Amino acid sequence: MKVVRSVLQMQDICVKLLGKGKSIGFVPTMGALHEGHLSLMRRAGRENEILVASIFVNPTQFGPKEDYRKYPRPFSRDRQLAKKSGVDYLFVPSVSGMYPEGLSCSVRVQGLTHLLCGASRPGHFDGVTTVVTKLFNIVCPSRAYFGQKDYQQASVIKKLVKDLNFSVKIVVMPIVREKDGLAISSRNKYLSPKERKAALVLYRVLSMAKDIFASGKSPKAKDVIKKLKSFIANEPLTKIDYVKIVNGKNLKDVKTVRTGDVFALALYIGSTRLIDNTIIRR
Ligand code: AMP
Repeated sequence: MKVVRSVLQMQDICVKLLGKGKSIGFVPTMGALHEGHLSLMRRAGRENEILVASIFVNPTQFGPKEDYRKYPRPFSRDRQLAKKSGVDYLFVPSVSGMYPEGLSCSVRVQGLTHLLCGASRPGHFDGVTTVVTKLFNIVCPSRAYFGQKDYQQASVIKKLVKDLNFSVKIVVMPIVREKDGLAISSRNKYLSPKERKAALVLYRVLSMAKDIFASGKSPKAKDVIKKLKSFIANEPLTKIDYVKIVNGKNLKDVKTVRTGDVFALALYIGSTRLIDNTIIRR
């Protein structure tokens, strides 16, 4: 595995590989790699001749009060995990390499980005779509792999690719969970032992929601949400950001719950904000 830090060098390598007709699978990450990231890498490795993964903690997608500075950056561990997962090129650009003269351009996906996480993280998705556009232009991937864990992000990126005619196929992979059900996240590292226990509320609520939906009736979304919110309100150390049932395509709130809708939630456990979701199947 080759570690590439220079943007120009990465672009040069990828353009040459494309010229030789190689398919490039790409997994963009912010590092602190875990089994969720590695599942994307393994699949990308199986489906493409060349596997490129990136590690870039992108400052423009963090709000001023968010965790950009304290975001974990365990590079030597990440390098080992990426190598074990079959990565050919690990692209690790610097902030000044990615934004040498600041940025006059920004790529915005209208419509989907002010909802759900976008409501409490203004500007977040503009940072994501702009950096993903840059990464796609550098890596020229045939396929790029994202996790359903960030359902909204994957939806926004699919729309970006469609609207701007990127020739990359977006593959979305299932959420990888800890044994007890907590969705694996780099931010789980922030949790104290007490908070780690409390964080199970996310999975409990998802399971409750799934049970309600599996009952076969078409419940009113607001009734389900009310019930789940009152369950969450009794949980220690927990504060609700949002609990929503949305249309799987346009991410707007639904009134009646149907197959393909998405139950999505964001909760603060102590000061750590965690998200999770499930696609409703009935
Ligand atoms: P991040 O490093 O948090 O930006 O995540 C990089 C990619 O890994 C994104 O596409 C995430 O959706 C995906 N990802 C993060 N956590 C998980 C997980 N638990 N299961 C599957 N994919 C994940």
